[in-house]
Amino acid sequence: MGYNNNTKTTGKSTIALSLLQYPDCCTSKDNLMTVTHCLFSPKCLKSHIYLTIVSSFINQMVGNWDVFTNNKSVTMPDDREKTLNEPIQTQMLDQLWELQRNNGCINDDDIKQLAHRFNLSDIEVEGVVSFYHFFHRKPTGKYTIYLNNSIVADLKGFNRIKETFERETGATFGSVDRTGTFGLFLTPCIGLSDQEPSALINFYPFTNLNAIKVKDIIHSLRNGATPASLCDAPADNIRYTPPGDKSIFFKKFTEGSAIANAAKLGRDGIIEELKKTELAGRGGAYFPTWKKWKAAKDQPAVPKYVVCNADEGEPGTFKDRVLLNTQAKSLIEGIMVCGYTIGAEYGIIYLRGEYHWLQPKLEEAINEYRKSGLLGTDCGNIKGFNFDIRIQMGAGSYVCGEETALLESLEGKRGEPRTKWFFPVEKGYLQKPTVINNVETFCAAARIIEMGAEAYMQMGIPGSPGTKLISVSGDCKLPGIYEIEWGMTVAELLELCEADDPYYIQVSGPSGECISIKEKYRRISMLDLLARKDIRCGGSFMIFNKQRDLVKVLLNFSEFFKSESCGICTPCRAGNFIIQRKLERLDNGLANEKDLEELKSWGTIMKNTSRCGLGKTATTSLIFSMEKFHDYFHNKLDKDFNGLNLKFDMENATEEYEKYKI
Ligand code: SF4
Repeated sequence: MGYNNNTKTTGKSTIALSLLQYPDCCTSKDNLMTVTHCLFSPKCLKSHIYLTIVSSFINQMVGNWDVFTNNKSVTMPDDREKTLNEPIQTQMLDQLWELQRNNGCINDDDIKQLAHRFNLSDIEVEGVVSFYHFFHRKPTGKYTIYLNNSIVADLKGFNRIKETFERETGATFGSVDRTGTFGLFLTPCIGLSDQEPSALINFYPFTNLNAIKVKDIIHSLRNGATPASLCDAPADNIRYTPPGDKSIFFKKFTEGSAIANAAKLGRDGIIEELKKTELAGRGGAYFPTWKKWKAAKDQPAVPKYVVCNADEGEPGTFKDRVLLNTQAKSLIEGIMVCGYTIGAEYGIIYLRGEYHWLQPKLEEAINEYRKSGLLGTDCGNIKGFNFDIRIQMGAGSYVCGEETALLESLEGKRGEPRTKWFFPVEKGYLQKPTVINNVETFCAAARIIEMGAEAYMQMGIPGSPGTKLISVSGDCKLPGIYEIEWGMTVAELLELCEADDPYYIQVSGPSGECISIKEKYRRISMLDLLARKDIRCGGSFMIFNKQRDLVKVLLNFSEFFKSESCGICTPCRAGNFIIQRKLERLDNGLANEKDLEELKSWGTIMKNTSRCGLGKTATTSLIFSMEKFHDYFHNKLDKDFNGLNLKFDMENATEEYEKYKI
């Protein structure tokens, strides 16, 4: 049933087709025709690959058949305390995590055993392992260190910390030292931009690093201390809430209050409340929440699922981290209210691998809800409302923040975005109706139901009621979380965080719009967006002062998108690579007008032809900055048009030779 409507790309087929350089193997009619042709052409050297693809495809159909027909119950491992209607492959990521944690890698035997267990081929399991940054095929050392290389870390002394780690451990980044004790790896934003430089050691957080602190940490680890005993408890840094005790997100939340009100309002009443408040997806897409919930509610198919996207991977964004740490109860109740509204029985929190350290606290909160009878059978005394929640750990992949990629990952596959033939509310997790919202949206929904739409709408401005959380980092004295009322201006926010000579501000992470200080009187709201009067923020402000090199900032972003692209479609896979090369030319003083034109046209191609949001928005900051910082870019051009590398220094290059030539 599912495959008639949705020709999926999975494991082996993806790898084989990628090798053949097909641009978009899920949808291209030509590809399928070529496959058919080759299957009937014994001379074709590629035919064995196609046969492999087809056999994998059939395997998938057979292997997953019970997902679409039987809904067999599978008993999950001990840490999932409930029997859920989920096929066995959904345990894939948990099993891989266990192997990675216990053995420091996933070896050939593990792959074979997992393939046998999940009724997949070895290459399919290999395909899943290779997709996620935190799964490795070679040992990663007794202490695996992931140092954040985002642009904010770069501003705060990343290079010094990198050198210190290398000097103290004897390893170089991307490898393990000779004794197998320390493995050093770079990783993009780990959600701690307000306390950079930061790193994860065996997934425990270490913040505000400096050379002395790194030296002490490595020394202590060598002497038997554990990362758990040395790690930091990251500060929440909630710097601002609306004055007069008017915080919506951070005021005290009473367990059971939202679900009790939900029962009084009824399903249609909840949707009405959300509609009045104009709550829209706070992950950045701003799709009206009431519409999404109503669409799922109206679907006849069962079971239905609620998925919380806690895969906050946009560099510079850390508001969900703070909500997870301080507001687990309002999050749980937001998910429950959604489950009650749409008629779901299961909720899943997809927690990014970088937030492993938050998992125990979140589990504890879920267990408390179970103990108090708020989760389980007849939740919140609502007869017939049976609901439970589990956590699924992600494993390091930015693109899994895209909702359909997240669903694939939840199903135990490579986190490749799906072709958009169906909305998740129609066919989402396991092809069943699924609501996916992020942490902030669920927390806001719980608060709206708890306090009532009228009270919520007292805050903000008409057309943008309520408050918004913004993660502020970069060149400012008070990085952290700001709960602003919609309608606040950029200037006011910059003043609150004591911005240091702000010049370039990246809003909503690298995939968002950048603004210059000249635009500081724009309001932050959901209004006047097309006229570019107001600015809508997905959740972060990264502030850069005039001393910062804009091209270096953009190079950091392009490296990020290049390495996070899943590579399934050509505009994104090739485009991000080409953008990076062009920016390097600009950085080296070799670019000319034609390069700038080409940068713009690549931006348009990627925006219009990429399959998912990553490719579509990867050049947004670049295109906006070329428009807003026109003079800066033109000053960087090779005006003589001679193609000479202006950064090349003959004296430096020959210095060594001159020293020894006598
Ligand atoms: Fe993958 Fe990029 Fe295509 Fe998205 S746009 S599906 S990340 S290659």
